[in-house]
Amino acid sequence: MINHAEVAMLEEALDVLEEGFTDLPAFAPELDPQRLRPVLEAVAARMQDNYPYPHPYYAGQMLKPPHPVARIAYALSMYINPNNHALDGGRASSAMEKECIRDIAAMFGWSEPLGHLTGGGTMANLEALWISDRLHPGQRVLASDQAHYTHGRISDVLKIPFAAVASNATGAMDMEALENELEKGDVGTVVATMGTTGLGAVDPLPRILDLQSKYGFRIHADAAYGGYFVLASNLSETTRRRYDAMTEVDSIVIDPHKHGLQPYGCGCVLFKDTSVVKHYKHDSAYTYFSSDDLHLGEISLECSRAGSSAVALWATHRLLPPVEDGEFASSLDRCVSALHQVRDALNANPAFTVLHDPMLDIIVFSVAGDDAGTVSAANQRLFDRAARRNLHLALIEMPVQFVNNRMPLDASEAETVTCLRSVLMKPEHDDWAHDIIEILNELGGS
Ligand SMILES: *Cc1c(COP(=O)(O)O)cnc(C)c1O
Repeated sequence: MINHAEVAMLEEALDVLEEGFTDLPAFAPELDPQRLRPVLEAVAARMQDNYPYPHPYYAGQMLKPPHPVARIAYALSMYINPNNHALDGGRASSAMEKECIRDIAAMFGWSEPLGHLTGGGTMANLEALWISDRLHPGQRVLASDQAHYTHGRISDVLKIPFAAVASNATGAMDMEALENELEKGDVGTVVATMGTTGLGAVDPLPRILDLQSKYGFRIHADAAYGGYFVLASNLSETTRRRYDAMTEVDSIVIDPHKHGLQPYGCGCVLFKDTSVVKHYKHDSAYTYFSSDDLHLGEISLECSRAGSSAVALWATHRLLPPVEDGEFASSLDRCVSALHQVRDALNANPAFTVLHDPMLDIIVFSVAGDDAGTVSAANQRLFDRAARRNLHLALIEMPVQFVNNRMPLDASEAETVTCLRSVLMKPEHDDWAHDIIEILNELGGS
């Protein structure tokens, strides 16, 4: 799972970095290999206690390895350890972050947004809802019942009234249920999830925009996981139209650490209207912002932030620009294609039922059956048996009503069913789908 040539490339790049500081008196930080070695060996041993996330046989949760260029650039920049709070702490990495923000905004047809990287999608969504509340104080935030649970919790933290809107059989927000809520006249913001974390469902943004012109509210697109699929070329026409509508929303969250090939600690929030910057103003007791150029700390809630995240993302954009028809875009197509392969194979096997029409690269399915308890136990067993074959899937609790749409169950006390879930978010999954299907078919007994 590890290509050791990466380490040599880091060494070469470090030599170049050092050339920038040769006018200083020689200074070599101390290093005691004899003491470090056993500690590092212990760390490596401890880290063996993990699922093999980088391997294509890991097809469970939403986990994707960083690109080698991101990993090397991150490690390289750690020798500077820049802080993107203020230019004083990270001049180069702040400039790189601003370039990355322009690249990401361009994916959605935005040219001059206000935006910055964050520690992750939670913090990015918190900023977006905080701004929403500043603009529509006291008004409700709505998100679908399949939206990330973070929205309810963030609203609680910010003391914003929040309500969940029912989703339909596709896992996307139900438009009738949304309009029922909007008619109450107290909605400030609707969160459109552009790729739910559970099912990869994309909310019907064009219809939410229609409702916006009737009722007037802010639209925040939570595209933490799904945002990069705006670049994919093999989505269904309906899903494609939903992504195309993202140019019209007010704010966007997208996580480079989900589908953008980055190590954890890299989210991003964008605001279309740059005037929201006024809400970030603060009176620092000591003015450490040393120049008139924009310090990222002036437009973000987080203070210290890893400049290395920006460096890694910049390197990745350099190698694989996030544009349509590029190599990065086609790597997303391969994820969708891997999922289509697995979906078709499961549909062809009567031992399984696919529980929705997957829109992106997440599939939720079940061992066929008609009793909630028996089906839950069978799915759990298949999950365990697959793991023993080194194929790692995930489990997800789905409401009985959702399962009933595709696989009618006998009436019972159970409210949820344990189902199987697989996220095929590595492009290599397209080449390995055949192997994965073979194992599933064997375990499914067909
Ligand atoms: C992952 C995710 C989040 C939370 O982001 P973190 O980076 O895990 O903090 C929010 N919304 C959606 C849709 C997500 O997939």
